[in-house]
Amino acid sequence: MPSVRKLLKVFLCNNINDIVVVSCTNFETMAYIRLTKEFSFEMAHFLSGYDGSCSNIHGHSYRLFVTVVGEPINDISNPKLGMVMDFGVLKSIVNKRIVNKLDHAMVLNNNLDAQSLISILKDRFKKVEVVDFQPTCENLLLDFVEQIRADLPNGIKLHHLKLYETSTSYAEWYEEDNK
Ligand SMILES: [Zn+2]
Repeated sequence: MPSVRKLLKVFLCNNINDIVVVSCTNFETMAYIRLTKEFSFEMAHFLSGYDGSCSNIHGHSYRLFVTVVGEPINDISNPKLGMVMDFGVLKSIVNKRIVNKLDHAMVLNNNLDAQSLISILKDRFKKVEVVDFQPTCENLLLDFVEQIRADLPNGIKLHHLKLYETSTSYAEWYEEDNK
């Protein structure tokens, strides 16, 4: 099945003037486009050993921005024609991997000497997530990178993530910083 670009090129080049021929060149150019979707979740944690108030149990209203990059599909037979990826697919990946798990959850570092606390919380509450890292904004981002990448469709790359821990504080991960 010929692509829309090829069909348009044949039509335009055979029928119209020099101005439209310039457009033919543009149709040949493959463009990378970034897509971003925003998510939010409420999560409790504490930073063991930290020399500030975040060493106590507290919560944040996190806002997560996920940006992917790819080329729009140009196969006219593909129902996702013109899309880099379906926003709904990106939403499903991030909700399944991150938001559904962490929203209204308590996150604890498994490396702490706090096994008795972990078992007490797990007995009392449904959503207790134990992770192998200090649950800072930075470390959460690194975990999110691995999880989102695992489910992205072929040809789609994770470009960057931005995670707001408060309304004025956020951490970012960029693929280009980590090559
Ligand atoms: Zn905190």
